[in-house]
Amino acid sequence: METVFENHWEKLGKYAVEALNKNGFKAQYVPDKAAALAAVLKIIDKKATVGMGGSHTMDDIGVQKALQERGNMVFNHQGLSKEKAFKVRRQEITADVFLSGANAVTLEGELINVDGSGNRVAALAFGPGKVIVVAGANKIVKNEAAGRERIKMMAAPLNADRLQRKTPCRVTGMCMDCHSPERICNVTTITHRPLTYTDIHVIIVGEAMGY
Ligand code: SF4
Repeated sequence: METVFENHWEKLGKYAVEALNKNGFKAQYVPDKAAALAAVLKIIDKKATVGMGGSHTMDDIGVQKALQERGNMVFNHQGLSKEKAFKVRRQEITADVFLSGANAVTLEGELINVDGSGNRVAALAFGPGKVIVVAGANKIVKNEAAGRERIKMMAAPLNADRLQRKTPCRVTGMCMDCHSPERICNVTTITHRPLTYTDIHVIIVGEAMGY
């Protein structure tokens, strides 16, 4: 069964990489998490400062520890109080390199992200000179509509659960387009192409990663 999934994700991953490269992203396919970590480290200069976007996928590949061990300065707001996190989030989005996951990657070569605080989607658009997105092939969808659906049925409810927010999707398992003060879906971006001042590298991994 595992091989069936691996074969499937490799095919979809390579289609997505081709489409992303056509749109100007610097995309590559890697088979597993270890190769993803190696690819991320290769792209980042050893003297660069690095902002972490709060991605479960980045945590999964152990990138922060690996960067700190080789001497990179890393900014990460996770686990901090709201006031401290605000300050660190601002440092993250002006670091040399910003690391992010994606909520969906389309076979048309676009990135779709929903955000609560906006730091992640801000950095994808402007701030750091280089953004690296790592996404498991489970995030690949056909098009923008399928990406938005994936966010409502999977990414956002699971992230709300991970962050222990008081939102209805934690009860129902799907988006209820809530008015909760703890809502995590406040802005959605479709990145069609890299922005003027931002190189965007995308690493598609042939494994299920994140939500
Ligand atoms: S809008 Fe509200 S209910 Fe829908 S996924 Fe986001 S947090 Fe959950």
